Amino acid sequence: MTGVHIAHVTKSYLLPGGTRKHALKGVDLDIAPGEFVCLLGPSGCGKSTLLNILSGLDSEYEGVVAFPETERLRISYIFQEARLLPWMTVRNNLRFVLDDGRGSDAHQRIEGWLERVGLAGYGDYYPSQLSVGMQQRVSVARALILEPELLLMDEPFSSLDELTSLRMRMELLDLWDQARPTVVFVTHNPMEAVYLADRVVIMTTGPGRISHELLVNTELPRPRDFEDQRLWQLSREAVRHLMDDGGAGPSAGSPIGVVKTT
Ligand code: ADP
Repeated sequence: MTGVHIAHVTKSYLLPGGTRKHALKGVDLDIAPGEFVCLLGPSGCGKSTLLNILSGLDSEYEGVVAFPETERLRISYIFQEARLLPWMTVRNNLRFVLDDGRGSDAHQRIEGWLERVGLAGYGDYYPSQLSVGMQQRVSVARALILEPELLLMDEPFSSLDELTSLRMRMELLDLWDQARPTVVFVTHNPMEAVYLADRVVIMTTGPGRISHELLVNTELPRPRDFEDQRLWQLSREAVRHLMDDGGAGPSAGSPIGVVKTT
């Protein structure tokens, strides 16, 4: 587990023609070790830009991003698409990210993770032989097998059908509960944000900045229930903030609250 300290982070992109466009301006955010934070905001408010900065993929920004224990911090990043290596089997996609993928310990870890994400028996399959949801399960296993202290997720379930994404959200919370990495999860879905997060950080465009925070943890104990009316209330509150900010905020009408999957 690790905390994250983000202070006055500003990022601009160079556009064709030589002008610069601000994607983030003056972002301040402190995330506690083991906290599950959702970044919620409309398209273009800088959520992915902020994740790229946290991951180290983008180092061209102003301001401070600091981790208390910076030595060999383990960070995993899950994207909207699974991004598996298509020429490798599922098992080898997991083995590939391990430092020592050959040991017997590695074999046990791989098989253990395949089982945990519901893919025991699929180790010899190639990604193209799996559904999109199964591929995303492999990418979750690939991220968590590294036992990350910081887990970054960029709309990981948004390309899945609603029932599959419901299941994946529940499973993610189970897995998070076992190891408690710090999580920064990007979404534009208010229900998803309030269902998953300890804290929802609402961002707005023009340029990207933090406009509000919702402390979900104080309102909703875990484990959470999709049927809980407080989830809907918090989701509506998040939508109100998004609308107040003038963003083309998404509606609160995701069916996450009305589908039972047990
Ligand atoms: P979000 O993830 O919230 O949809 P992004 O972080 O992807 O937002 O983008 C924030 C803003 O920065 C947007 O206006 C986007 O067009 C712009 N942007 C993102 N990446 C680039 C890039 N490589 N070059 C120029 N502009 C970019």
